[in-house]
Amino acid sequence: MKILVVEDEAALCDALTEILKRNQYNVDSVDNGEDGLEYALTGLYDCIILDIMLPIMDGISVLKHLRKAKISTPVMLLTAKSDIDDKITGLDCGADDYLTKPFITGELLARVRALTRRTGEVNVDAFDFHGLTLNKQTYMLSYDSQSVKLSLKEYQIMEILIMNPNQIITKERFIEKIWGFESDVEYNNIEVYISFLRKKIQSINSKASIRTARGVGYYLEEKT
Ligand code: CA
Repeated sequence: MKILVVEDEAALCDALTEILKRNQYNVDSVDNGEDGLEYALTGLYDCIILDIMLPIMDGISVLKHLRKAKISTPVMLLTAKSDIDDKITGLDCGADDYLTKPFITGELLARVRALTRRTGEVNVDAFDFHGLTLNKQTYMLSYDSQSVKLSLKEYQIMEILIMNPNQIITKERFIEKIWGFESDVEYNNIEVYISFLRKKIQSINSKASIRTARGVGYYLEEKT
């Protein structure tokens, strides 16, 4: 899961980033609305935590631009107690939730989990694809009674595949989501991780498999 934090108070921004990273989220953070909008427009994030009072461009404007550009990433606004009007405007402009500062860690994480939960996903601790389950806490990939532990990168790749079943994910997208824009990770790194993952999927006799879309990327499919 990849989260964008747009917050100009450095201490709060660092704290948010830390908390989220400790809870296995991938985090990008920026300190002004203009950068926030640019990052958010990539559509790469599973959730955006957006402060309202920001330099260059305020959070409400960022949100308006985003929704106008048909980016539907869940947005949680951060508001000060006094921003009641902003809160209402924000929800009217397409925010999905808001959190009043100061907040406690538990509440923040619960809200983020709620926002990133996909429709139809019942078990919040694990993803499921035709009986193949991926546990978010333990990184265990299981089928029937068999399980295998994934490394962090294998987990991150599998998470993207299982959240977007039957959809081709390009190698470029894996790299952007897992390593970030500025990384010098190459396509063959992805290929190596995919081959590790395939061996692990095979080792638990899963009916699902990672298929190659030649020259494009990969997708998860149930074997028929
Ligand atoms: Ca602020």
